[in-house]
Amino acid sequence: MRDFSSDLGFLAGRRAEMTATLKDWCAINSGSRNIDGLDRMRDVLVTAFGELEGDVEIAPAEQHEVVTRDGEVERTPAGGSVRVVKRPQAPIRVLLAGHMDTVFPPDHPFQTHRMIDDDVMNAPGAADMKGGLLVMLRALQCVEQSAVADAIGYEVVINADEEIGSHGSAATIAAAARRAHFACVYEPSLPDGTLAGARKGSGNFSAIFRGRSAHAGREHHLGRNAVVAASRFAERIDRMSGARAGMTVNVARIDGGSPNNVVPESAVVRFNVRVELGDDAAWAEAELNKLIAAANAEDGFGAQLHGGFGRPPKPMTPELLSFFEAVKSVGAELGQEIGWKATGGCCDGNNIAAEGTPVVDTLGVRGANIHSADEYARLDSLEERAKLSALLLMRIASGDIPAPGRVT
Ligand SMILES: [Zn+2]
Repeated sequence: MRDFSSDLGFLAGRRAEMTATLKDWCAINSGSRNIDGLDRMRDVLVTAFGELEGDVEIAPAEQHEVVTRDGEVERTPAGGSVRVVKRPQAPIRVLLAGHMDTVFPPDHPFQTHRMIDDDVMNAPGAADMKGGLLVMLRALQCVEQSAVADAIGYEVVINADEEIGSHGSAATIAAAARRAHFACVYEPSLPDGTLAGARKGSGNFSAIFRGRSAHAGREHHLGRNAVVAASRFAERIDRMSGARAGMTVNVARIDGGSPNNVVPESAVVRFNVRVELGDDAAWAEAELNKLIAAANAEDGFGAQLHGGFGRPPKPMTPELLSFFEAVKSVGAELGQEIGWKATGGCCDGNNIAAEGTPVVDTLGVRGANIHSADEYARLDSLEERAKLSALLLMRIASGDIPAPGRVT
């Protein structure tokens, strides 16, 4: 095997520099719906990733559809993705994906960093996933200055709507996944470095019910109560939990209603479905459509299902397992113990896997408490994880480790 220790020297002693950069990035509010903040963050990323000297472009996002409390479908803008393409004709091609958005809007109290101790930095996006973006960038810079760079080409996609489901960037990510032999995504790992293995699929839905308004006293018999229809539906889908192994249905919210003296004419049931297998997603959708059809068949009622499985399941295939084994072997070389376990959570890795591209999607920093004001990144992991990715890519580029996926 080739000796990459001098190449990895590029990443040695980088902790202070990476910490300072990460603090700057975390100070920019890039909540998923903060279009101005996302623009600022994107500018910073375009400059930073511009150092790779690839072709940089902004891929605009499709609008998101949102079902309002009144059951109307509205369209809202989403931020565009940064794309960097380098050596697209190289024999081995990898997609490196991440997201610039966070779950914290500009009016959230959590906006700046705080050091918990020397190694633990609490900051919005520190782990999820500005720290991961920095790990990705430094790893690529390390690969670029190595002798094996020419053997590997890559596409970086950093989207701006991951935390709200990636609907606006789904087409960009799927196309990039199809062009790549394998993919690395920079979501945080667990604090001890454990990666996410198989992931459940996730579908977000809104069921919109229309009834008929009527005076509750004078003409109650003419009314068709949409809240009651919505409640019946909610109760039925709740019973789908466990209908297939690992399937859960979470009835999250019911919007609707009217004053006490009026029969309500509209209601919306919002719910999330998680499944382990693609077949289960199809089965769940068929069941939901049957329930909607049954609701529609009732006199005076209308029902409509909105949404879908935006995150297909990511099962542990033999091909993916060999990719994890490769990461583990590279980790062992660096003295890093790498394990993985299945999770019910989901990310863009689900969508990349759905294109048939093997993906390890927690190559970012070690951290925890994401999506809360207690989010933190372990600063020791910045350099550590950059080395892991850099060595992985250099071992694959050199042929020491066979490239995962469909290299032709
Ligand atoms: Zn994330």
